[in-house]
Amino acid sequence: MIVLAISFALLLAIGAGGQRARAVSAAPNGWYWPTGKVIAAPAPGWLQSRPTQYKLGPAWHVAWDDVASHKAGDPCYALDWGVVVLSRMDVSGYGPGGGKGGAMVVRYDTSDGTYFNALYGHVVIDLKKFKVGTKVTPGEQLCTLNKYSPPHLHFGIHLGTGNPKPLPWTKPKFVSTVSMLMGHTYDTTKTASGKIVPETYGFTDPAGFLLNHTPWIAPPSSLTTPSVPATSAPKSSFYGRGLLSPKRPAGSKNIQLICQHLENGKWVKKATFFATDVDATASHSSYVATAGLAMTGSWRVQALAPGNMDFPARQSGWAYLTIK
Ligand SMILES: [Zn+2]
Repeated sequence: MIVLAISFALLLAIGAGGQRARAVSAAPNGWYWPTGKVIAAPAPGWLQSRPTQYKLGPAWHVAWDDVASHKAGDPCYALDWGVVVLSRMDVSGYGPGGGKGGAMVVRYDTSDGTYFNALYGHVVIDLKKFKVGTKVTPGEQLCTLNKYSPPHLHFGIHLGTGNPKPLPWTKPKFVSTVSMLMGHTYDTTKTASGKIVPETYGFTDPAGFLLNHTPWIAPPSSLTTPSVPATSAPKSSFYGRGLLSPKRPAGSKNIQLICQHLENGKWVKKATFFATDVDATASHSSYVATAGLAMTGSWRVQALAPGNMDFPARQSGWAYLTIK
């Protein structure tokens, strides 16, 4: 956490000069940059040719390789709210000496609704913590640089939500079972003006992309404490309801009502009911659950809204009722 704080203090300094508040991000536009450092566009390494390293003709590098002043163990960060779509420690070429190493792909979206996959390569990942489907939060440390020489992050941005197609890694020696981990492209394409350029298969200059887009920002969200009756009879049904914003599609069942019973001075979870969302206002859903509790005594009820890549998880305050 200390490292994180220092890094963000640095970003604060860079972002100073008229920019305020959201200074934890780099180019004052809101992203947490993957190594905590703003990179100018075009990114170092973007479309750099590698004709001597590989013998199958020109190989263009579809990511950045910022090799300046990094060391093994340096942290890499989540750009924004996102979800892990791939996380492996056995990818050929990403380890020290070109052996097997870590690579992670995290999906994000921008304020204009553009989804993209960000690739972090040459890294060490805690695979227990970062599995496929794990939600990440802005600025969260995802991994650290491994001992590849020199230590650096191979960072790519691929637009959309899928794999690059067609798959460029179909040539002998470069076959990859996971094309999203692509580091290079070997093909060319012709522009409208007839110029021959590298075929990037949906990859884009990562620094240019981050500088020219802003992250998706969660709108102020809220989940009110469920309203329940003060008393109810055993096994008799009652409503637990409240408001959720931003609103979810009507019919969604994303809210849970957690019911705890007071036993020997301790609250013990005894029941969960799912609420259905209905439209309340232009900005809010109303959630409604039908609950029924058998045991007499004191109860308390809380609403829980699980997070997704666009919304953080939320929990409401507690509402109290007596069953008698
Ligand atoms: Zn690279």
